[in-house]
Amino acid sequence: MFFQGRETSNPYYSAAPEIVQTAMNKFAETVGRQYHLFDYIGDPKATRVIIIMGSGADTVHETVDFLNETDEKVGVLKVRLFRPFAINSFIKALPETVKNIAVLDRTKEPGSTGEPLYLDVVTALSEDAQNGGSKFKAIPTAVGGRYGLSSKEFTPGMVKSVFDELSKDKPKNHFTIGIMDDITYTSLAYDPEFTLHEENVFRGMFYGLGADGTVGANKNSIKIIGEGTDFNAQGYFVYDSKKSGSMTVSHLRFGKDPIRSPYLINHANFVACHQIGFINTHDVLGNIVAQGTLLLNAPYGHDEVWAKLPKNVQKQILDKKVKLYTIDALKVAKKTGMGVRINTIMQTCFFALCGVIPSEAAIASIKKAIEKTYGRQGEEIVKKNFQAVDETLANLKEIKIPAVATGIELNLDVVPDAAPDFVKKVTAKIISGKGDSLPVSAFPPDGTWPTATSQWEKRNIASEIPAWDPDICIQCNKCAFVCPHGVIRMKIYDETLLKNAPETFKATKARGREWEGNENYTLQIAPEDCTGCALCVEVCPVKDKTDTKRKAINMVPQTPLRDSERMSWDFFLKLPEVERSRPKHDNVKVLSFCNRFLSFQEHVRGAGKHRM
Ligand code: SF4
Ligand code: SF4
Repeated sequence: MFFQGRETSNPYYSAAPEIVQTAMNKFAETVGRQYHLFDYIGDPKATRVIIIMGSGADTVHETVDFLNETDEKVGVLKVRLFRPFAINSFIKALPETVKNIAVLDRTKEPGSTGEPLYLDVVTALSEDAQNGGSKFKAIPTAVGGRYGLSSKEFTPGMVKSVFDELSKDKPKNHFTIGIMDDITYTSLAYDPEFTLHEENVFRGMFYGLGADGTVGANKNSIKIIGEGTDFNAQGYFVYDSKKSGSMTVSHLRFGKDPIRSPYLINHANFVACHQIGFINTHDVLGNIVAQGTLLLNAPYGHDEVWAKLPKNVQKQILDKKVKLYTIDALKVAKKTGMGVRINTIMQTCFFALCGVIPSEAAIASIKKAIEKTYGRQGEEIVKKNFQAVDETLANLKEIKIPAVATGIELNLDVVPDAAPDFVKKVTAKIISGKGDSLPVSAFPPDGTWPTATSQWEKRNIASEIPAWDPDICIQCNKCAFVCPHGVIRMKIYDETLLKNAPETFKATKARGREWEGNENYTLQIAPEDCTGCALCVEVCPVKDKTDTKRKAINMVPQTPLRDSERMSWDFFLKLPEVERSRPKHDNVKVLSFCNRFLSFQEHVRGAGKHRM
């Protein structure tokens, strides 16, 4: 009886399109924006049409507008109601001149004859013809394509490539766009440099560190501009799954005309780098246009900044004639009692340089926003933020660009040579933000992924790391047990193995009945993997009697220690592991000598978990 029961719903499905259209009409009366089950935009005599639904339709819409300004005849059919698929409304919405159709689906149906929207369109065209449909001289050719899976970028360059494909005598069917398929060759090539009219739109990219306030400040800037001016505003925020302590990129657009660009910026006229470290590890200037503006937060004097930039960045600045502005935001923050919070300072710099609204008006709005955000926390906090805003303008300077690049050449390898092949070819690309350009052949077809790869990513996100004092340490190993990222290790080893130890390597006699008299103990930190959460210091039970503020492990600046501690860590790894069978596994202390099964978790600072 199930079968008959299922068929009872037919009348409801048949009635749904009309009901939806009635609701759309009512919406139009109330709001003034009219939708239809299928909305066609483009040349009324178009021969090539893309059929698509969802946000990607806007990208096609603006590309169609752009192409039709030249001698192209193209259009887009936006599907507003996918199922029940209203065949009559669909056929009615298409121009009668259409010859070639590309149906874009944001999904993959392995093994099927096509993706869902494509199949519905092909069936609709075929049924219309069978029913004697006379609208088209010949049934249009329909090909299907996949795009944008899992938020993969879908840009005007890709739309143009699909229209170009439709111009061919035999357009490729079941294609992909936006990736490079070097296994079954489904992908269409596209021009990543293709852009639409962007001259009247402010396009800014902001590189920040998760939880440093950059994203919050940008959302605030959007509010200030969107609510206080007649500019339209748009913001996209790219986060890493590692969240706090990882890179965030904010993409902001402002313009007098409505902004219909649901994709990231790839031609920025303003780039702000809130963390100088990214200049060495990421192609921060890769998307800046000629004569664009770079705002750099740099912990150097204005006369030192240029010399501190790597050569490849200096070359980009010279080649593109980039205007460079810098500020030592941390210095301003400390001076004005803001601690390490630099977001208000960098936001003020942005308004001073972007030219979207007069900077005096922007500063007044920032101050108003400060009162609103921090007012409840007391007058003192508001005052400090006001001071930070005022000090910012005095400390922001344009750098005179020398004629030649003289910086040091950077080693751009993001993982060491000793890393496995997969890490070098695949993981390294992902780490440097270029995972989108990996070809299909780089991926294991069964979806398996190698583990233990985080050990090769040296994030260097801690400004301070712990330093061990072997003279007062009681070797309780609590610090290793509590470290959420598994970056503190201990080993017990024969002291003769210290023969080739680096000068800065620390060791002391092993304490405890389990160990023999000539054995040494070393507590070693992986300096480039530590997140600086300081939980190890918190838990250490030992206080230095000569200075009770100090413990047997203490936070110190990372940069001066980075190289020597890296050498010590490498040497430490070569020392033999304590055999698992040797210590009794009945307490935290001895468990800490065992090698980790999971370590270097790249979670939010202090929130990982390691397994012994
Ligand atoms: S600071 Fe945090 S991440 Fe670094 S060693 Fe200590 S506990 Fe581990
Ligand atoms: S917690 Fe302190 S005393 Fe215990 S092993 Fe770590 S540094 Fe040494």
